[in-house]
Amino acid sequence: MFLKALEIYGFKSFPDKTRLTFERGLTAVVGPNGSGKSNISDAMRWVLGEQSTKSLRSSKMQDVIFGGTQQRGAMGFAQVSLVIDNQEGELAGIQAPEVTVTRKLYRSGESEYRINGAMVRLKDIHEMFMDTGLGKDGYSIIGQGRIAEIVAAKSDERREIFEEAAGIAKYRYKKTEAERK
Ligand code: ATP
Ligand code: MG
Repeated sequence: MFLKALEIYGFKSFPDKTRLTFERGLTAVVGPNGSGKSNISDAMRWVLGEQSTKSLRSSKMQDVIFGGTQQRGAMGFAQVSLVIDNQEGELAGIQAPEVTVTRKLYRSGESEYRINGAMVRLKDIHEMFMDTGLGKDGYSIIGQGRIAEIVAAKSDERREIFEEAAGIAKYRYKKTEAERK
């Protein structure tokens, strides 16, 4: 499983449809201060379902929508898609060799999540990424300060990270879900 592409449209400093493609191996994003490097990683976490505006460096969720510049009007929505290679079938319950996850947010506050074009709930995205390490809290995204956070974490929080890595987070989740019913 690897990331093939990220499509950003109307998200933060990207008013134009922007498609970044990745190969297997290492990709570095370089650019001057304020050019939008962190906005790319924000877009990646956002499409995976990030709900914390603080970690997206905004005060309210609609702030992720392109807010306009002197030359250009604000946009009415933000949309980000992440294309994942799933040829080895690591994504739970998805047979397709390629999986596209899309999140769209309108200024009205209305939001949409899609998996390969079909409308889903945020919960479905969360479940699909469970135990893959790729979810928004997965260990595959290590933000600034995250290492220190893991070292300082309480033992039950640290255990969650290890459970995800060991591939057993899903079973705990299913047990809790079953107990709620
Ligand atoms: P640094 O090297 O300093 O970390 P960076 O390349 O990571 O910089 P970002 O933080 O990704 O830069 O981008 C910051 C820019 O994004 C700022 O110019 C800010 O105005 C712009 N920006 C953030 N949110 C929006 C928005 N909603 N609409 C338009 N522009 C935005
Ligand atoms: Mg930055």
